[in-house]
Amino acid sequence: MLNKVISEENIRKAKELMLRADKTVIVTHQVPDGDALGSSLGLYHFLKTIGKEKVQIIVPNDYPIFLRWMPDVKSIINAERQQKKAERAIAAADLIFCLDFNMPQRIAPLDNPVQQSKAKKILIDHHLSPADFCDVTISHPEISSTSELIYRFIVRMGMSEHIAKPCAECIYTGMMTDTGAFTYNSGSAAIYYIIGELLQKGIDKDAIYSMVYNRCQEGRIRLQGYLLYEKMRLFDEYRTSLITLSEQEYMQFNPERGDTEGFVNIPLSMEKVVFSAFIREDKHIVRISLRSKGTFPTNRFAADIYGGGGHLNASGGRFSGSLEEAVKKFEDALPTYKDLLK
Ligand code: 5GP
Ligand code: MN
Repeated sequence: MLNKVISEENIRKAKELMLRADKTVIVTHQVPDGDALGSSLGLYHFLKTIGKEKVQIIVPNDYPIFLRWMPDVKSIINAERQQKKAERAIAAADLIFCLDFNMPQRIAPLDNPVQQSKAKKILIDHHLSPADFCDVTISHPEISSTSELIYRFIVRMGMSEHIAKPCAECIYTGMMTDTGAFTYNSGSAAIYYIIGELLQKGIDKDAIYSMVYNRCQEGRIRLQGYLLYEKMRLFDEYRTSLITLSEQEYMQFNPERGDTEGFVNIPLSMEKVVFSAFIREDKHIVRISLRSKGTFPTNRFAADIYGGGGHLNASGGRFSGSLEEAVKKFEDALPTYKDLLK
């Protein structure tokens, strides 16, 4: 049996809104990852199975190529390419599920349309400090993925028989990618109980692993080699690693969308490194990815230095200046955190 986690009242309110809704929209965060798409598509398949015909997932921008195999992923509206269509769907909705993000800014440019929509809103998320912008807020930072929360939500509504294989595949994908294939934030027995249930629904977990992690092109592997050999800097005094990548360098490797995913984790495999940063130019913005092992609060660093956020061991932010400026901010900040970097 699963422990409860989501409150009785939240289940009751959300179930009522869900059953009553005619047009349902699901939105998730920018640069959608495996958990963003896994939770959205998992819920989408469930809603279809219970007979909801008008369900539309909308993402702020494109998702990585390694998620393109996911069942019904092609039905998703990408607001970057279809802004008007996205806005019309949001305005017409009577229920909006906000999945895997904790504040409206994380879905820009959909933040205003969603906030202005008259639709009821249900947040299901696992990031700290959710903003108060939804009618029902199901926020559980102690749970490692939003996909797991979607599973729990369905089970607690007493509707687990409506989880069919495509739904189970999506939920598994999100649980897997948000835990580094069950290598971190993955110590709760419930995770493995749920995986057992998903296997009963017919998922092939090894095939899903392979579709996500074993499908890259040569460029990604060569880029990885280049970054680790040429670009990784170690700050031994702070047990910190920093990798930087300019747009121009990146383009030399014929990259596919999502090709830098996961690189930030690699330096942590060194015993001496507890904090790893990856700073890269992405068109007109600089993106910062931070990871740690142990107790170093990357979310505090992300918030203090770049106005970003996230979880203790995985967070990020954006910087609107040059790559060099973003790196300088990083270097200048490190000594301030010396006591925490032990
Ligand atoms: P990633 O390094 O994979 O881009 O992001 C890791 C985590 O950091 C995400 O799951 C998200 O929680 C958080 N994050 C990334 N970028 C931002 C940002 O700009 N603002 C906030 N608040 N959180 C972010
Ligand atoms: Mn997540």
